[in-house]
Amino acid sequence: MNNDPKQNGLSTRCIHAGTHLDPSTGGACSPIYTSSAYAFPNSTNANIYPRYFNTPNQRVINRKLAALEQGEDALVFGSGMAAISTFLFAHLKPGDHAAFQTDLYGGTQQLVTKELTRLGVEVSFHRTAAEFVAAIRSNTRLIYVESPSNPLLRCVDLSAIATLGRKHGVLTVVDNTFATPINQNPIPLGFDAVIHSATKYLNGHSDVNAGVVVSSTAIIGRLTEAATNYGGMLDAHSCYQLERGLKTLALRVRQHNENAGRIAQFLQTHPAVARVNYPGLPEHSDHSIAARQMRGFGGMLSFELRDPALVDGMLNRLRLVMPALSLGGVESLVCVPSKTSHRLMTADERQRADIGDGLVRVSVGIEDGDDLIEDFERALDAKPQSPERVWAQASRTGAASHPTSAWDFRTMKDE
Ligand SMILES: *Cc1c(COP(=O)(O)O)cnc(C)c1O
Repeated sequence: MNNDPKQNGLSTRCIHAGTHLDPSTGGACSPIYTSSAYAFPNSTNANIYPRYFNTPNQRVINRKLAALEQGEDALVFGSGMAAISTFLFAHLKPGDHAAFQTDLYGGTQQLVTKELTRLGVEVSFHRTAAEFVAAIRSNTRLIYVESPSNPLLRCVDLSAIATLGRKHGVLTVVDNTFATPINQNPIPLGFDAVIHSATKYLNGHSDVNAGVVVSSTAIIGRLTEAATNYGGMLDAHSCYQLERGLKTLALRVRQHNENAGRIAQFLQTHPAVARVNYPGLPEHSDHSIAARQMRGFGGMLSFELRDPALVDGMLNRLRLVMPALSLGGVESLVCVPSKTSHRLMTADERQRADIGDGLVRVSVGIEDGDDLIEDFERALDAKPQSPERVWAQASRTGAASHPTSAWDFRTMKDE
């Protein structure tokens, strides 16, 4: 077997890179090392401890993600936000300036505006590469982007941002959650660091919260020191589940790409739909950027209903696609950003961000594409029906309970 992770194809890396081979049994899978106490001194003289981010199961994920994103090293965290907050706090200090993309994941947006500013970090928000060029100040330390972004799937020119960062000695970071390493690798384009919410596509089964940073050995070294102090580690069992999920990442993402492309085309032709946001559509404003830097266009899309009053009815008529938060799992999910991820914004802020009340975001799963299109077709048909299966409201954690009563977004104020 060729074990150089940089030479193997992406599917092979998903399966083989980083596996902890068990010499005592020769088992095909990494064993789960549950200890929180390890002998010291030991043969390697390493002080192993889960919160030091150096247990065997954590290292499996680090090696696999480094191979998939073509970085030198990686660090797995207990959530995407743990990865993001640790990275930002480890690299920014009072008086520094950090330039962020306007369309940030809601949690990141809150972290930046509530916590970073409180610590005396100057922050600013920009959309295009040209805007980032104009944003550089003498104290700019970091540029942070998401591409494609949530929920409008805007894409930013990653090569241009990386070049800008290099020119000014500014650290460049990208949240690559929506694209996955199968569709897009920012590090070979010149980015210093890639962050993922591994909760989403990397794990892929909607049953683990995790995050990861991929970068150079030097940056991951510094990050590990900070992370040890902040403490946002992932436990061995979740590492194992994430490893298992990652083995099928390439296969899953191919199906996500295919289904999302088909659904985007279908929605575009539907009379009830005003516009579809999917970077794979030639009509999308950033299609040419996406086509240049992505191998596939991903499983996320959003669309705007002509009449926002019809949104709730449509959600209630869906039988297969489940109204729920989160994304990137095998099952298809829909949500309404104005009532979920972007609810903390004022109506005015939402309007400026182009998040209308009729906007629906879809995390397209890996079911049969025909079934998904049929589900949307039925749901968009305004005629009242009695669905054989409607979804109950999400619990306060955002997970759906058993489908027994009609979905009602008005009950979702706290999510
Ligand atoms: C979900 C998500 C996060 C946060 O990840 P958690 O695992 O929920 O902490 C960050 N960025 C993006 C793009 C996400 O979708």
